[in-house]
Amino acid sequence: MSELVEKLARLKSERNAVILAHNYQRPEVQDSADFVGDSLGLSQEAAETDADVILFCGVHFMAETAAILCPGKTVLIPDENAGCPMANMVSVRELKDAKASHPDAVVGCYVNSSAAVKAESDICCTSANGVRVVDSIPRDREVLFIPDASLGSYVSKKLGRPLILWAGFCPTHHRILAEEITRVKQAHPGAKVVVHPECTEDVIDIADHVASTTGILNYCRETDAEEFIVGTEIGIGHRLQKENPGRTFHMLTALAGCPNMKLNTIEKMVWALEDMQPQVTVAEDIASRARGAIERMLAIPRS
Ligand code: SF4
Repeated sequence: MSELVEKLARLKSERNAVILAHNYQRPEVQDSADFVGDSLGLSQEAAETDADVILFCGVHFMAETAAILCPGKTVLIPDENAGCPMANMVSVRELKDAKASHPDAVVGCYVNSSAAVKAESDICCTSANGVRVVDSIPRDREVLFIPDASLGSYVSKKLGRPLILWAGFCPTHHRILAEEITRVKQAHPGAKVVVHPECTEDVIDIADHVASTTGILNYCRETDAEEFIVGTEIGIGHRLQKENPGRTFHMLTALAGCPNMKLNTIEKMVWALEDMQPQVTVAEDIASRARGAIERMLAIPRS
């Protein structure tokens, strides 16, 4: 492995590349990255570096977002089969049909979606800013929220505002069960429960805190507790343990591993930089419209 890691470092410097890894990537992939974070944060990071090449270790829609926000840079993904089942739950044709049924609705689109779907949307949001983004839409406008019904229903409940929800979901987060949290909590009564808003409503209802991956990392760093029960994809456990060596993190179930996120490996990272393939590109007419939806989100004040 160390030979491969050395080869990766050499290729990275030869290609003037930056390596970005999502919080759900394999531990060794995270450890080889220049930046580890959430999808949008990583793309924003990439836009600010002077690297020519971005090796994006995440799933396809994340690499597309990097391509949208970093025109002129070459975006590579170690394994082009690393897709997102939730993002695939809404197609452009289905979205156009829904827009025709709700012609006055504002389309709010979770970043876990394809570039083509973002291009058909009015404004994007992340799991960190979903509440703020929807709250920025005038109350007298209907909101069609795509594709994650769990995040949408969390936002709707927080704002006390009905949303038209899409029937999408994250299969990985839906494998985290409220019964399991209750069982682990009984064994560790002092532990704080922190979960991602892609989880089901009954899981969210029993959590002490609901947050994006970055929010979960911040909460576990800043909260005065020794133990945490963490309801999100298991890959985040690596960073939680690394940043908080004295604390204990219960990751609930090994089933909450996203098989798509785990497709990226050190070998595939080396091959990608060697061959400069697979590249992720977004046609400019789609990229410019998708960028508009992302920029409208970024323009909302943090309050
Ligand atoms: S964890 Fe869920 S939302 Fe994230 S890439 Fe995997 S399937 Fe998609």
